[in-house]
Amino acid sequence: MTGQVRATRRRFLTSAIAAAAFPAPLVAQAAGPRVVVIGGGFGGASCARALRKTDPRIAVTLVEANPTFTAMPQSSAAIAGLFELKHQQFGYGRIRDSGVTVVISAAKAVDSEKRKVTLADGASLAYDRLVLSPGIDFRPGAIPGYDSKAAAIMPAAWNNGEEVALLRRQLEAMDDGGTVVITSPVNPARCPPAPYERASMIAFYLKTTKPRSKVIVLDSKEGFTMQKLFEAAWKELYPGMIEWVGLSNGGALSSVDAGTKTLLTDFDRYQADVANVIPPQKAGHAADLAGVADRTGWCPVDPVTFESRLQKNIHVIGDAAIAGAMPRSASAAHSQAAICAAAIVAMLAGKAPERPALTSSCYSLIAPDYAISQRGTYRPVDDQYAEADGGGIVSPPNVSRAARGVESGQAGEWFRAITGVVFG
Ligand SMILES: Cc1cc2nc3c(=O)[nH]c(=O)nc-3n(C[C@H](O)[C@H](O)[C@H](O)COP(=O)(O)OP(=O)(O)OC[C@H]3O[C@@H](n4cnc5c(N)ncnc54)[C@H](O)[C@@H]3O)c2cc1C
Repeated sequence: MTGQVRATRRRFLTSAIAAAAFPAPLVAQAAGPRVVVIGGGFGGASCARALRKTDPRIAVTLVEANPTFTAMPQSSAAIAGLFELKHQQFGYGRIRDSGVTVVISAAKAVDSEKRKVTLADGASLAYDRLVLSPGIDFRPGAIPGYDSKAAAIMPAAWNNGEEVALLRRQLEAMDDGGTVVITSPVNPARCPPAPYERASMIAFYLKTTKPRSKVIVLDSKEGFTMQKLFEAAWKELYPGMIEWVGLSNGGALSSVDAGTKTLLTDFDRYQADVANVIPPQKAGHAADLAGVADRTGWCPVDPVTFESRLQKNIHVIGDAAIAGAMPRSASAAHSQAAICAAAIVAMLAGKAPERPALTSSCYSLIAPDYAISQRGTYRPVDDQYAEADGGGIVSPPNVSRAARGVESGQAGEWFRAITGVVFG
């Protein structure tokens, strides 16, 4: 990692030398206001690019812990074998080409008084404004028995490409007739429909390769988003294969024993052949470093600028932010990034930011040719985001298989478009 930070510094010096020969944008960049963005996922990478595009005088540095980003949308299709993992993976070359300085290193400390970020190798970056988009972390100690060793046996595959690959291998190795247990956490959590999309895609894989197997979803909630649509599709496509156990039937996970792949709820004990444990969540740890997470574990922000309500000059976007009715989605993170970048450009120029409207769209694949979706527009109302323009749009019930097929095509197009805009 040190080498990569040094390489970035060399690139920066080279840019400064080039700037002497070609004065316009590069000199302005070196001398301009400094914005540091922590987290090169859907929110952070989008924001870094939008900042540079809107005002090339701003010196934008993107700090990302990993050289390759693994996108979670469509990761359940990869787990089901519809795509190779590389379909989900993206580098930072094009973001560098767009004029953003990319530093591959983890941020380890934030000094909000001195406006300074310290990296894993001890190097530091000064900022005028800091943007955090660190995604989610799991709440430590929330599930007795679930630690990093247990995660290597019962992976979440919720923010980690290696775990996506591990879960795929575990399913391939499972015998026909095996039981896959998925645990779905309380809200707020990343992408509320995603545990049920995961159950669907695993059922698709099992139906086509190991048809005597079953999927049990242990849910800490009493119900879930688009439940009627999911359950109708499960009945049609995977009859008798997926069992959903809600809170009042003992779905809440109380502990795990990774050694025996046993999951305990308040009422029962479940023996898994493959366990996909998705723990309760909070804002990514970088939010704690910066002091922008409140007692809920998430980050309160101003809905117009995404500036933290707890620390000045620090903005929080993406899953880590509290954004009212907006779901925690890649689509929402991308939309928030554009609004946050525009607000920072306006604030640095001493202007008032405009009041935004934001969008989110989230597709859930139930089979390769069957998808449902949830879309919405959101505006700030009473200091928080509320659904606007007539509320959210959800796929209708009782439509033809062809209509579900059209949505599955749209899901693929959406993924190509968003990853193209953010990383391409
Ligand atoms: C199974 C699944 C399916 C999903 N499907 C959809 C979908 O269909 N549509 C949709 O819109 N959304 C979907 N999502 C949700 C989507 O993945 C997230 O909402 C989105 O990634 C949030 O963006 P973010 O920028 O907040 O976090 P991320 O995209 O996770 O990016 C966070 C980045 O920050 C980096 N980071 C964290 N801490 C540090 C640090 N200290 N220093 C440096 N770097 C750091 C991480 O390495 C990571 O790259 C899905 C999620 C899952 C799990």
